[in-house]
Formats: sequence, structure tokens, C-alpha cells
Amino acid sequence: MNKLERLRELDSEARLVVSIGSVLGWDQETYMPPAAIDERAEQLSFLEALAHDKQTVPEMGELLDGLGSTAANPGGDPSLPELDRAYLRVMRRAYDQATRIPTEFVAEMARAVSLSQAAWAKAREEDDFPSFAPHLQKMLDFNRKIAAFLDPARKPYDVLLDRFEEGATEAGIAAVFGALRDDLVRLLDRIKGRPQVDDSFLHAHCPEAAQARAGEYLMKILSYDLERGRLDKTAHPFTTTLGSSDVRITTHYHEDFFPSSVFSTIHEAGHALYELGIDPAPEYRRTALHEACSMAVHESQSRLWENVVGRSLGFWKRHLPEFQRMLKPALDGVSLDRYYKAINKVEPSFIRTEADEVTYSLHVILRFELEGELLSGRLAVNDLPVAWNDRMRKFLGVVPPNDAKGCLQDIHWSMGAFGYFPSYALGNLYGAQWWDAMKSGGMDPAAAVERGDLGSILSWLRANVHKPGAAWRPDALVERVTGKPLDASHFVRYLEEKYAGVYGF
Ligand code: ZN
Repeated sequence: MNKLERLRELDSEARLVVSIGSVLGWDQETYMPPAAIDERAEQLSFLEALAHDKQTVPEMGELLDGLGSTAANPGGDPSLPELDRAYLRVMRRAYDQATRIPTEFVAEMARAVSLSQAAWAKAREEDDFPSFAPHLQKMLDFNRKIAAFLDPARKPYDVLLDRFEEGATEAGIAAVFGALRDDLVRLLDRIKGRPQVDDSFLHAHCPEAAQARAGEYLMKILSYDLERGRLDKTAHPFTTTLGSSDVRITTHYHEDFFPSSVFSTIHEAGHALYELGIDPAPEYRRTALHEACSMAVHESQSRLWENVVGRSLGFWKRHLPEFQRMLKPALDGVSLDRYYKAINKVEPSFIRTEADEVTYSLHVILRFELEGELLSGRLAVNDLPVAWNDRMRKFLGVVPPNDAKGCLQDIHWSMGAFGYFPSYALGNLYGAQWWDAMKSGGMDPAAAVERGDLGSILSWLRANVHKPGAAWRPDALVERVTGKPLDASHFVRYLEEKYAGVYGF
């Protein structure tokens, strides 16, 4: 066995442990009886430690060294085939990240995170930011230390962003987000000047069983293969990968607002289709190359299916009659035009996860700006609520009535996850850029949606975005696929055209 084969073998073993953990994690969220929670936590932390041991085994470092992979030249020996070099780059990065952060630090942070999350939940419940502030301060300190472990020469926020979006920097994202923010605020102002659309009928009672049938219909038309996945019910929808042919999704059902399950199901199916489409090469199955390119590219898949396809006029021209039948009588007498406008209603609101396509990215940009300021020390933790509300007024024109609906709404910072938020908005940008690349390649994706031919869109995404997995950095992937670096203009144009139709300007 040569060095590369041995490296793949060690890597696959570590991934095996991780995927066993995913099975237990999925079970915990879906069917596990409540009393099993303590033992399950023990089982999961045992597996986590085991996976960490396997990911940091010194032989892995020796093999990477032996193949010429260094921090400066992660791809190793230049004479190696492109895919092998891509693999070494991914493995060098993962190995360095796993070995540079001391195990005791990880354990110490895990304990602090569980206290922080509990404090956050209580603070949000009681609208009491000051009780959470010391925990937030600790999470910031832990993150500065992580950044210092990984790369003390760089700005902490840059190091943290790079963990979720390889190659990303605060300045690079700020350049893209700055233009996007101004364009979105302008578009929102135009929308505010128009009469609001009526979406009250979307709250008609609609039994869970009917929504579940609609979910089955959606999985079928999206070609989400139930031989390789399944749909279950949880409080918060998610997608989880248990193996290369086992990617599962969940959804939730609100009987007084069926669109929530419809669009959550499409969103999660989009994530699952991506995971199921990754296949850089047979020898790289079950290796670190068989992974998503980045969190933002992942989100580009879910949001493309949910919004660009799932909230389009062509999609509902094709599928509304079937939904009216399945959800009867909730949509009786509702015209296509009224339905399309209702599911695309734009209204500034306090909560990110409930935001529409226009305001959603503004919520994310606000978080990106604030977490950069918190990490650099330009913003003090105690001043966060005021800074949050100021920016809500500036971006969205609304101010939350309390911190529970403001800076305490998201779980991310309480978990110590800084640098993750931008992925949500970058996903929108990638998605719009993929869509335009389909068009420049001679496809008419909107016409395909209207014909009911979602397969041609999936095939394009499979070939261009899914198949390579983690082989290319996200900035390299977007250049390869679209010929250009990521920019916001595709997304802004998409929104302007769409909402000119919805709001009539
Ligand atoms: Zn998502």
C-alpha cells in the first residue's frame, strides 16, 4: 500500500466513527425516548473523542509530510494528479486544525459552551441580556484563542471565517456585502412604497397529514431518492449525512401555516441532494474529499431549490393545481397570481429565520458586521443591544421591542460559533450565480421549472457543483463553474426582476 492509500485508509476510519455518531445524533433528534438523553450524551462524547484521536494520529501527519504536503504547499508533490493534490490540501488543513487546538482547550470550551447555551436560553426567555453578557464575553475570548492556535499571524475574524468558508476574509466579504446591503436597502424602499400583498389565506387550517402528503410529492418531483434518504418530523428541520448513500432530512408542520413545511422540506431536500451528489472519484468515496465544498456552497443548494425554484411563478404554474387537491380545502379558489404573491411577500421583521428573500440577507449582514466588531474589540459586549437595534433601524427600518427578539434571537454566538453567519447570505449569492451560469451555458432553467423538468437543473448542479465535493476551494469552484469570482450582482438582479413582478414597479 502506498502512502496515499494508507492516508485514505486512516481518513476513512475516522469518518466511519463520525458517521456512527451521526446515526446516534439523528436518532436523538427524532425517535429517542427522553430518558435516554444522559447515556446518549456519554455515547456521543465517547465517539467524538475517538474520532478526534483518529483524526490526529501522528501517522497521518507523517504521511502528509512524506507526500510533500506542508502549510505553504498543502497539495504536496506537484507531479501528483490534480485530485490527489486537492485531497492532500483538504487533509493538511483538517489535520492542522485538529492538532493545533489542544485537547484540554476543546474540553474546557465544551463545558463553557454548555453553560453559555443554558444561560442564553434563560436570558432569551426572560429578555435579560445582562445575564448572558459574561458568557458571550467568554465565547469571544475562546474564539480569539482558537484563532491564535490556528494562525497567530492573522486577524482573528479572518481565521474564524476561513474555518467555514476556506479562503474567505473579513475584507473580502465586506466588499461583497457592502454593495449588496445598499442594493437591498434600496430595493426594500421601493417595495415599501407599494401596496402590501395579502397572504392571510396561507394561514387557513391545513392538517398535518395533508402537509405530509405534499412533502412526499415534493420529494418525488425533486428526485430526492428515498432509497438513499428519508423524511421525518422534528421541531427544527435539518439535514444529516449518515453515509454516502444515507442522507436524511426532517421537517416540521404548522397546521395554521402550511408554507413552513413546504419550503422547509424543499430547503432540506436541497441540502440532501447536494450531499448525495458528491462523488469526486471512486477512490475518494468515504474520504475527506467526499464532503461539501463549504457551508455557503451547501446553503446555495438549499436556497436555490427553496427560493429560486420553489418560490418561482413557473413552479407553481405547474404544481399549484396538485397542491390545491392535496391540501383541500385550504387553497380553494386561490388564483395562481394571488398565491405566488403571497408566498413572496416582503415585510421587514425582527427574526432572521422568518425573513423573506429580500430582507434575509440584511439580517445576516448585520450579524457579520457586529461579530467582526466584537472580535476586534471595536464593539464592547455590553454595547451589543444598542448597536443591534441601531443597525436594524438602518437596514430594515424596524427596531425589535426587546433583546429576546433582537440580539438574543440566534443560538450561534452562545455556542461559540463566530464566522458562520456569512454562509447564509453567501449561499444566496452563489445560488444566483449558478443560475446565471446555467443560462450562459445555453440552458433555460426557468422554462425547465415550468415544464416540470427539474431533472435538467439537478443534472447541471450534479455535474458542476455537487460532484467535485471538497476538491476545490469555494473561490476556485465559483471561478471554474461561472468563469468569475463571486459577486452580488447576480442575486440583486434576480431579486429586482422578481419583485418588480410581485410588487408591480
Ligand atoms: Zn440550510
